Order: sequence, then C-alpha cells, then structure tokens
Amino acid sequence: MYAPKGLELHTFSGTDVTVVAAPWYNLVLSGQHLIYDNNISYIVINTTTESVVTAMTSELILTTLFSPVNIIILILLALAVSWLVNLRFQNNHEKYAIKMLNTKAIELLNSLNLATDSDLTKHTQLDQLQNNFQTLTTHITNYTRESEVSIYQDKLTHLIDRHAYIEHLAKQLRLAEMDKFSCALLFIDLDGFKQVNDSFGHSFGDDVLIQVATRLSSVLRHHKISNISPISQLEQNLARLGGDEFSIFINLKDDKEKALEVAQNVLHEIERDFVLGNKLIKISASIGIAVYPDSASTPQALLQMADVAMYRAKTDGRGIFKVYSPEMGKKIRRYHYLLEEMRLAIASSSFHLSFQPIVHVDDCAIDYFEALVRWDHPVEGSITPDEFIPIAEESNLILELGDWIMLESCRQMSAWYNAGMKKVSISVNISGVQLKHYDIYEWVMEKLAKTGLPAKALMLEITESTLIKASNKIIQSLEKLRGEGITIAIDDFGTGFSSLSTLADLPIDVIKLDKLFVAQANDNLKYNEIMHSVSELGRKLGLKVVAEGVEELAQFELVKSMGINSVQGYLVSHPESSVNVGHKVLQDNINFMSVTGTGVWNIQQPL
Ligand code: C2E
Ligand code: CA
Ligand code: CA
Repeated sequence: MYAPKGLELHTFSGTDVTVVAAPWYNLVLSGQHLIYDNNISYIVINTTTESVVTAMTSELILTTLFSPVNIIILILLALAVSWLVNLRFQNNHEKYAIKMLNTKAIELLNSLNLATDSDLTKHTQLDQLQNNFQTLTTHITNYTRESEVSIYQDKLTHLIDRHAYIEHLAKQLRLAEMDKFSCALLFIDLDGFKQVNDSFGHSFGDDVLIQVATRLSSVLRHHKISNISPISQLEQNLARLGGDEFSIFINLKDDKEKALEVAQNVLHEIERDFVLGNKLIKISASIGIAVYPDSASTPQALLQMADVAMYRAKTDGRGIFKVYSPEMGKKIRRYHYLLEEMRLAIASSSFHLSFQPIVHVDDCAIDYFEALVRWDHPVEGSITPDEFIPIAEESNLILELGDWIMLESCRQMSAWYNAGMKKVSISVNISGVQLKHYDIYEWVMEKLAKTGLPAKALMLEITESTLIKASNKIIQSLEKLRGEGITIAIDDFGTGFSSLSTLADLPIDVIKLDKLFVAQANDNLKYNEIMHSVSELGRKLGLKVVAEGVEELAQFELVKSMGINSVQGYLVSHPESSVNVGHKVLQDNINFMSVTGTGVWNIQQPL
C-alpha cells in the first residue's frame, strides 16, 4: 500500500500483532490488513518476514480525506446535500403557496357566488387551483363583455352608441392610415320620423327604430361588412348616433364603390313598409357619405362631414344619398357664421323693416304694404332674407325675430293709420315654424292690443307649402283671426303643388300668385293659362288675386287683362324705408288720402 507523505509510520515485529473487532472505518478500508495495538488500529503498509510497517489508521484516513482533491470533493458533496435539503424545503414552501393561493381563489369565487373546485379527494391542490383560475378567467371575460355591453350598447336598438362607435372609428382610421386604404361613413337620418312620433306616439316610434336597426344589421350582413367585437359580441360597424340617426362604417379596401351600393340598399330597405300591429307606415331616409381620407381624417370630423352631406340630401328632396364635397362644407360654415351673427343682430336690434306697396291695377291706389325684413351686416353689407330666413327658421331664431317683425309692423302701420291711411293695411310674412310654436291667434291679438292697430289693417302672408301642411288646430286659429277681421293671404301660390280645388277649403282671402308665373306668362302659354284659371277661380271663390314680381309694363298689362286685382313689383316700387313711404304717401297725397283713406303710388314709368 502507498503511504501519503508526512505520515508517521509504525513498525511492529511479527509477534506483537493481535486482531480485534473491526471498527466502522473497516468498511472503507475493506481489503486492507489491520493491526491493533493498545486498542489503536494500524493499517498495514508493508510486510516483511521480520516486521510489519504500519500507519495509524485514523491518521491515515484523516490525511487521505483532507488531501486538497478530497476537500473539493467534500465541499461539493456538502453543497449537494444542502441543495437536496433546500429543494425539499422549497417543495414544501411551494406546496404551501399553492394551497394559500387556492384558499384565496376559493374565497374569491365564493364571494362572487361562483362554483369552486375544492374536492380534495379527486384533484391535487394544483389541479384545483388551475380549475378555480379557469372559472375566474371565464368570469372576468364574461364580466368585461357584460360591462362593455352595458356601457356601449344603445338600450333601445341594442346597437352600439355614438361613444363606442367613435372609439371604434378611431381604431379603424389608424389601421386605414397604416395600410393606406380608404373608408366611408354613412350618416343615416330617417325622414319624417318626428311625424311618426307625433301621430302614433313615442312607443310606436321606438318600435320603428328597433325595426330600422334590424334592417340595417341585415344590410351589413348582406354586404359582408360586419365587424363583431370579440369581447362584447356587438356589431361595431353600425351605430345608433341618437334619435333617428344611424351610421354605418365601411372599409373600402377591396371595393371603392361599396359605400354607394350599401347606401342604395339602405334607402331601399327603409322604404319597405313597416308593419306594426295593425298599422302600416312608410318612411324614407336621407344619407350623407363622407370618405376617409378625402373628406376628413378624424372620427368626429368624418361624422360631421357626413352629417353635412346628409343635410344636403334632405334639402335636395329626401330619400336620397349625397357624398360630401368641400362646397357643402363652405355652405355649412356660412350657415353657422350667419346663425351666430343673427343672434347678435337680434340682441342689438340690427334688423329693420322695409315696405313694398301693392297697388290696385285700375288706379294704382295703395292696397297694402308688405313688410319685408332687412339685415345690414356691419361687415357683409346687406344679407338677403332668402339667405337668412331659412337659417332663422331652422334654428328657431325666427320665433324671436318674427316677434319683433310683427310688433314693429303693427306699430308702424298703426302710426300710418292714425296719420290717415285708414284703407291701407300691412301684410306680415308668417313662417310655418311660428305657426307651430305659438298659438297664432293669441300671439297676433296680443300685438294688435299692444299697438292699437285695428284688425282690419293687418294681413298675414302664409306660403302655400306651409298652409297645405297646416294642422287642423292651426287652420282653426286662422279662421278665428279672420273672424276678428284679419286678412289671410296664401303666398307664393303655384309653387306648393296644391290642387286648385284645395283653395276652397283653406281659410284665405287673398291669393298671391308667385312671381314665377308673371315672369313666364308672356312667353309660356301654360303659365299664361294657369294665371287665367287662378284669376277666374279667385273671382268665383270671392278671393282677391295679387300678382307678384311685376317688373315690366307688358306684364302689368297682361295681369290687368286677366282681371287680376292688384300687383306687386319693381315696376310699381322696390321695397322702401318707412321714411320714404311716409314722404310719398302721406306728404304727396294728403288731400286724396283724406277722402279715400289711401294714397296713389306714383309710378315713374308711364302706364
Ligand atoms: P316673399 O314673401 O315672396 O316677398 C316678396 C319678395 O319679392 C321680396 O323679396 C321682394 O323684395 C321681392 N320682389 C318684389 N317685387 C319684385 C319684382 O318685381 N321682381 C323680383 N324679382 N322680386 C320682387 P325679399 O324682401 O328679398 O324677400 C324674400 C323672401 O324672404 C320673401 O319672399 C319672404 O319669403 C322672405 N321674407 C322677407 N321678409 C320676411 C319676414 O319679415 N318674415 C318672413 N317670415 N319671411 C320674410
Ligand atoms: Ca310674402
Ligand atoms: Ca311671395
């Protein structure tokens, strides 16, 4: 055997050797010869015939064990043991953590009233935890969906609402920008929906809206333009914006014409009969289309442009669609500008009236004056009523403005009346919006009372298109006004498509033939014939007929030859300021007036 360096050797003679029971390390040293002396064991290193060379076993083992190589092995061994111990500890720790998590998960599930997996007999803690987590995840997904639905869904139609739609549009426009494709937005507004509500009640109107939503959803499916949210399961390309307004979003990646096809189909679907209970109604829709990126590039701007185009579709006849163009934008900006300016002008009393005489064809004696509103804008100059009256009507500003016009007209006429114009009346244009909002009888009578103007000195001009749509209540109020002595004229007659026979049923005293007829009568036989028959019918029904827009002598002669009673037009006079009217009528005709109660309007051109 080899003895390590530095180990003390012991030599025994052959007779000294005794054998004792092997101690524990004999296991390690199996196969080695051992000698015991005084209970100390020695390991045989070399044996000769006379002696045995040994080393103390314990020393040999220690020296061998603590050699540098063995120390490293020992350290590694110690590390391995400690790792194993640690691993076992860690395993226990993990088990504990899983158990804790599971307890928490079960607590959470219980608090949410959800079924838990706590059957220890069937599953390990880990399996249970996995199952419980699965239940929680499903619950969270459902909860997210339900809350998205409750936040974003329109309660009536179950479509998404404007808010959700705008969020969806923002995402879609980002995609379109990245992938460089265009999209279109349809702004759909039902025509005459207000009448449906007014005539049949709101719950009937609600049912119509629900059916409209269903029809629009089917249009999306038909054109394969659906986009269902994976979370809420809601259709995202179709929204109810509010009231009777809906919108559809279309990706034009594959087909540029798609928006037009969809719009056409929507019009068609809405025009189909709506059957509700035992009622059948017909409605239509007007659609505006805006295209990304041509028309606008943000959701709000796109909606606004489509709204502008929809508005154009409405004014161009309803039941049609229009694609937005910048020219429409200009119009809408002008609209908003004038609306704001008009508000200021009303507040600062910047409007004034001008008066146009209507004269008898026989002697040019003044029949009445038409009060016409004027607006001299500080920057724009004179803005025509043809431009601002429709805006005032649409925004209901006509209520405030019309109130002032009526009061000022009555006040002016009352002054003229008191100055001698006892046979002259003032005629005031009344808009359909005013008829709907006021009790026209009360409103007019109040103005007369305020200004002291006799009822017979007041005429109301209501256009044919307004009169034929007027409700029974309005017609009754007008009748009552006539009963008081107020005259009612049907204005712009011939443009409202009413049949001549309806004239007999309307509460009117005067027919004002639209200037269109006078302008055409000398060249177009048909217009000439219509004028003839209106004049004849007027005579038969005891109505006075007035021809508007007489600019030339030939027109005056023609009108006169037809038996039309009175004329209005530039030939006689342009609308004049109250000061000029005062000069011309009161100062120049004072004697004539005192006899007749009216004046003669001096016409510049010889008749
Ligand atoms: P309207 O009620 O038909 O008024 C007659 C219009 O014809 C006036 O235009 C008048 O200036 C114009 N006119 C008179 N004679 C001739 C003529 O010989 N040739 C031509 N081409 N035109 C003639 P105006 O003042 O510009 O008013 C336009 C329209 O604006 C009015 O048409 C009326 O619908 C509306 N409007 C004017 N003032 C008022 C108002 O005070 N209240 C309401 N609600 N509407 C008004
Ligand atoms: Ca008029
Ligand atoms: Ca007119």
